[in-house]
Amino acid sequence: MGKADLHIHTNASDGDLSPEDLIKKVAQKGLKTISITDHDTIKGYELARDLAEENEIELIPGVEISTVWNNREIHVLAYAFDEEDDGFLKLIHNQKNARRKRMKAIVEVLKSEGLDIDYEEVRAESHPGNIGRPHAASVLINKGYVASVSEAFIRYLSTEKIKDIKTEYADVDDVISTVHKAGGVMSIAHPGPLYSQDEVKELLRHSFDGIECIHPSHSYKVQKIFLDLARANNLLVTGGSDFHGSRKSDYDPYLGVVTIGNQFVEALKRSARSKKMMIHQ
Ligand code: AMP
Ligand code: FE
Ligand code: FE
Ligand code: ZN
Repeated sequence: MGKADLHIHTNASDGDLSPEDLIKKVAQKGLKTISITDHDTIKGYELARDLAEENEIELIPGVEISTVWNNREIHVLAYAFDEEDDGFLKLIHNQKNARRKRMKAIVEVLKSEGLDIDYEEVRAESHPGNIGRPHAASVLINKGYVASVSEAFIRYLSTEKIKDIKTEYADVDDVISTVHKAGGVMSIAHPGPLYSQDEVKELLRHSFDGIECIHPSHSYKVQKIFLDLARANNLLVTGGSDFHGSRKSDYDPYLGVVTIGNQFVEALKRSARSKKMMIHQ
């Protein structure tokens, strides 16, 4: 039975590989089903579609969306939506603008700390895709302020001042209802290291369809906790490697290693099909 990876990034957001190179790598790893879940964009998915088909790799529409929940930023995963749905496209468009505005504010904070950096330099690193802090990290590395991405995050990009920046990311419930209206399903991304048990309970009061049980940041024990939780709450199980390309992430060895079984993909597709049937009734 084929293995699936439902959490992968390309250079359409903060990954290093082009969508085409990613598909080649995925083919080498022997994965049968993947989802490209770039941050707040489906450009990578769109560019990968033809090559995926040629290589007989099933490509499920996906995106990792930055949302606001209880005044904090959380990542959620949307799958198997109609990628031409107007409401969905509007959401993605707004998120792109929210990212740009946030990066301008981040650059102002860095400048106030005495760093020589401007927005255009960060934007150039993000070409052709959605902008994010890893692109600012690249600028800081190129200028010799830090030696690595993780040092950039620790010293400059996840400080209290940066966390205090108010974003225009969509509210989590608005994202869930927009994706549902586009016939898609929603999963809570990598909950393991991020939320307390009470917070997970609170999150499950929202209309999520699934939970990302399998992720490189989850130990076997944590995986089991979330698999049990999914079963008890009749939720879909999602998972994947969170691959970003070679340079930017600790998770990169896990492409083709951290995977989920096809039965979970089939359940996800069934759920999305029934959402679409409800819409078209
Ligand atoms: P942003 O989308 O601008 O909020 O940036 C978040 C992204 O930066 C995440 O999706 C990761 O890819 C990356 N990231 C977050 N924290 C770190 C870290 N400590 N070291 C390296 N990359 C990180
Ligand atoms: Fe990322
Ligand atoms: Fe994430
Ligand atoms: Zn991710």
